[in-house]
Amino acid sequence: MRLAVLSDIHANLEAFQAVLADLERAGADRLAFLGDVVGYGPDPEECVRLARGLGLAGVMGNHELGLAEASSLGWFNPIARRSLLQTREMLSAESLDYLIGLPLFLVQDGVRLVHGAPPDSATTYYFELGDQEIRDRLGDLPEGVCLVGHTHELHLARLYTGKVERLPLGQGLHRLEPGWRYLINAGAVGQPRDGDNRAKYVIYDEPAATLEVRLVDYDIPTTMRKIRERGLPEFNATRLL
Ligand code: ZN
Repeated sequence: MRLAVLSDIHANLEAFQAVLADLERAGADRLAFLGDVVGYGPDPEECVRLARGLGLAGVMGNHELGLAEASSLGWFNPIARRSLLQTREMLSAESLDYLIGLPLFLVQDGVRLVHGAPPDSATTYYFELGDQEIRDRLGDLPEGVCLVGHTHELHLARLYTGKVERLPLGQGLHRLEPGWRYLINAGAVGQPRDGDNRAKYVIYDEPAATLEVRLVDYDIPTTMRKIRERGLPEFNATRLL
């Protein structure tokens, strides 16, 4: 079973489509998303329709939470908040209902999917987790592998008999050792913040016990042009470079 996991699409249709095209080559049995399908980018409605049309399972990100609960808008910085208010206007009622109905976590093929941190936080960042918190949050999970998004970066921590190790997570194939519990921060499709502007996603292959990180080129100028045409904050465009 190969599970492809896409995080933080952020209404970037060009990046989303490029990842789907790359997936045709890479091959996966199932696809899932880790939240923040919308926010920042110019094509929220199109991205929701594409995800739903493909039957992707997924969880709620903090941007979906911001759409669901007006009170949570206070957590956002001014640019993210303005983007989200504009995003709401760009979404159909049906897509909005879908997004605010997403679960906070999901177990797919024995893997826990959550936007921020296990067990079910959409707002906690991976980089906020010290070793003890990783022990506490990972140690009691029924699942041995948990994938998170939210930081738009790639990280990997693993836990075995109380020992926490953090390993670099770069492009290519990574072996997952038996017995260890894994917390994987899966990068971002639509707005990378890891110093490389390509779209990122991962494929977890349970029988092979591997995790593959894939980097995908996409048409950044087109996404930037659309962000400007739709009057979204300029920072949302330049941040893609
Ligand atoms: Zn995000």
